Amino acid sequence: MHLRSDEVCVGRLAAPATNHARRTKRWVGGCSSQLLLIGCTQRQYHPHMEAAAAHLYDDAPRVIIWEMTRACALACRHCRAEAIPHRNPEELSTTEAFALVDSIARCGNPIVVFTGGDPLMRDDIYKIIEHATERGLRIAVSPSATGRLRDSSLLELARAGCERISLSLDAADAEIHDNFRGVKGSFERTLAGYRSAREHGISVQINTTIARFNHLDVDGIAEMLAELDIALWSVFFLVPTGRAELSEVLDAAETEEVFRKLYRLESRLPFGIKTTEAPHYRRYRSQRIASMPPRERPATIEPPWQRVPAVGDGKGFVFISHIGEISPSGFLPYVCGNVRDADLLDVYRHHPVMQRLRRPETFGGKCGVCEFRELCGGSRSRAYTMTGDAFAAEPSCVHKPIAIAEAV
Ligand code: SF4
Repeated sequence: MHLRSDEVCVGRLAAPATNHARRTKRWVGGCSSQLLLIGCTQRQYHPHMEAAAAHLYDDAPRVIIWEMTRACALACRHCRAEAIPHRNPEELSTTEAFALVDSIARCGNPIVVFTGGDPLMRDDIYKIIEHATERGLRIAVSPSATGRLRDSSLLELARAGCERISLSLDAADAEIHDNFRGVKGSFERTLAGYRSAREHGISVQINTTIARFNHLDVDGIAEMLAELDIALWSVFFLVPTGRAELSEVLDAAETEEVFRKLYRLESRLPFGIKTTEAPHYRRYRSQRIASMPPRERPATIEPPWQRVPAVGDGKGFVFISHIGEISPSGFLPYVCGNVRDADLLDVYRHHPVMQRLRRPETFGGKCGVCEFRELCGGSRSRAYTMTGDAFAAEPSCVHKPIAIAEAV
């Protein structure tokens, strides 16, 4: 397809948006529909964007996280799960885990992450992964950097069919990282685990928790990661739940500054960057790309996860706890059902909390009227943990929506 100099590919959501732009002769910008938000006024884009985006995540979750256990030998300062040294006898049994895998397989072709605690604390993890891969699922595992993260464990994970592991690195400096993770030697163990995983053909994602202790060293962390052969850098913006303290959470201006650094790094790093619990990074990218001269705007090079509305709590994303509770996120403590007596897909589709989380027009505060609400919608977990209301405005966003600016 040849595009005029003022046209670009607009991706999956944008067929109606493209027609609209052509009709109104307005610039669409970029290769994702999000940029239409910039080229059009709020009133013009709404009928098209919302019709296209509203039902994208209604049918099934795209990302399913199962907390296999809360047991973990680390003592991370921010631990969501408030991990404990030993397994809870109430955890899902192996038989129940197989049944859960079967119900996940009925959700289509989601990305499935086995997390913890430390998933390697379960001896049946390899059997469960084998069962999942036999069902055609793509499995990623999120092990902790403990003595269990041995070469032999990674070989077993690879043999069972694990495609990717995610490892945590929160600082370029070993001492700062170990201090955050609560165990000396965690940094070196992480790198050893990374090397073994790559030797056994498992791709590696690095997770970095961004908080007040390390937000000024984003460039240093990126520089360290650039030396590694990793598939993706997942940058998690701290949500103050579990052991994480409110004082560690970045404010809106600090968050925006980290966005600025990530955006600059995107074109320089040999791997993709994704944010977690920061959907407003999509808003930031849209604004930056829209501000470029037309010839410099990326046409088709955006990574796929930037072309559609952010997956968020209950919106394309679901969490199952170690005792089978189904929640919109591990950071949002609404228990919407339990896999022991409810169907995962049914709960995801029909529970009123899940449904409302997919309807940003029902949110309160500025997120509910924001022109980026479909694309972003804010972190519902951070809204909940910082205001007590999961549907309130995202506290860490600097953006002033057009509707609010025009009303002043
Ligand atoms: S105001 Fe809310 S919906 Fe709008 S960009 Fe910020 S976080 Fe996203």
